[in-house]
Amino acid sequence: MLAAFPRGSRLPDPAWNSRHRIIVLFALVASGVVTAVALALGTSLWMALSLGVPPAAVALVAWRAPIGRRFSASLSSASLMLTAALVVHLSGTIEAHFLFFILVPVVALYEDWAPLATASLLVLGHHAFMGLHSPTTVYNHQAAIDSPVTWSLIHSALFLAMCVTSIVHWTIHERARREENTLLDRLASQALHDPLTGLANRTLLHDRLNQALSLSQRTGTSVMVITVDIDGFKPVNDSYGHATGDALLVELAQRLQSCIRGGDTAARNGGDEFTLILPGTPRAEAPSMAGRILAAVSPPFSLPGVELDMSVSVGLAVSSTGAEAEVLLQEADQAMYSAKHNGRGGYVIFDRLLAPGTLGTMTVHPGQARDWAAYTQSLRAEIASAKDLGRIPEQSRGPETVRRTLESIIAAIDQLPHGQQLAKLALPERNALEEFVFHHDMVQHWADTLLVDSIIQAERSADADLFWLSLRRTAIKDHEHPGNSPESDGDYLPAAAT
Ligand code: GH3
Ligand code: MG
Repeated sequence: MLAAFPRGSRLPDPAWNSRHRIIVLFALVASGVVTAVALALGTSLWMALSLGVPPAAVALVAWRAPIGRRFSASLSSASLMLTAALVVHLSGTIEAHFLFFILVPVVALYEDWAPLATASLLVLGHHAFMGLHSPTTVYNHQAAIDSPVTWSLIHSALFLAMCVTSIVHWTIHERARREENTLLDRLASQALHDPLTGLANRTLLHDRLNQALSLSQRTGTSVMVITVDIDGFKPVNDSYGHATGDALLVELAQRLQSCIRGGDTAARNGGDEFTLILPGTPRAEAPSMAGRILAAVSPPFSLPGVELDMSVSVGLAVSSTGAEAEVLLQEADQAMYSAKHNGRGGYVIFDRLLAPGTLGTMTVHPGQARDWAAYTQSLRAEIASAKDLGRIPEQSRGPETVRRTLESIIAAIDQLPHGQQLAKLALPERNALEEFVFHHDMVQHWADTLLVDSIIQAERSADADLFWLSLRRTAIKDHEHPGNSPESDGDYLPAAAT
């Protein structure tokens, strides 16, 4: 029952302010007109002013005094009703009562119970008091003067009926505004959240991370960014269907959310990659945080028709002074890729000391290394154009630092001397090489897919494959014996030498 009535006081500030200004102006003009009419009717100046000034003063207080919306609206409503009552008394005509009916919708423009109640109390009180005690000042027809009670009730009923119609209008407006706000909220939420998991999307993730970084600058704390990627997610899709894959993503999203605190953010980056932002979290907490995530993922996932044991690879990065959002995200990404290379199901905390550099050499045949570089570059160019055309998803992009490592190794190949003799190729240090290996895997993966789809027409070069295998073995060998220098004798045997 109560739900049928408007709640009131819901007008947004700009709308309320402009309506209030107009209503107060109307009240001031009305009180000026009352004064002028009084003078025109031959009233003394003093008397005319004593009629016009009180409602004007009330309107001015409503306009200027810092008394809050409710009280201001009630005062301007009182000013209007006072003016209407004065017009009734000055004119001594029953027709002047129409003024009350005109003013009710004006007061209802506030869409608030307080000014409407003020108006009703003043009008009903005025009719009850003046109508009964001095009927001739309120009514100018005999029937009303003879039975003032009946006519007071008739006038009051008409006034309340006018209030009801105004309230109906107000209710309709308030509901329309509420529905509009709900729709806008829903649209805003959809624009910032992943529809499948309900987590923040990439836009909101960047926004929250930038906010967290600005706050961390002021407070001197650090922000932890964690990238989580499911290991072997594609086979789940392939074996059990996309609906099961989706259910797994939803369940994982819930488990990740249970690992973080209220002020933290969990986002889905796209595909099976998630990012967590933990403001005010020091590096010392990285291992326990990673442990919490791995523990949350370890119980089997009960999906429709199947129970699956899954693992994730986790990369953690912690901001330093002046850190940029994009760089921090790339660091967490890079650490996650390292976790994949370390065998999956574990975590790596990004360490700036392991950033790409140039270290170590590998013995190569320059001509074939150039073939390989040209092949890789042509694949990358075709993948980029296929992405631009929307033929493959954007997710095939590699992290920027990994891309730079790839560029640097290709640039190093360009520096090799020409000729058939073997040459030394400078390689990035171990960690960067691992990233590079992974990036090449990604490029190759997409290239294979695109070759199948006949988007890419390029033939794979046997030399390129051979060179690549050798480089990969260098990275793996080095990874298995991390104490070793990446210096390699190079087991790449050029075609000319075999
Ligand atoms: P890795 O262990 O190296 O992470 O490999 P992976 O098998 O998990 O595969 P990867 O992360 O490279 O690929 C993620 C796959 O997720 C590719 C795409 O088919 C699938 N995918 C992307 N978005 C969705 C989605 O919304 N729903 C489902 N079911 N699958 C998705
Ligand atoms: Mg994955």
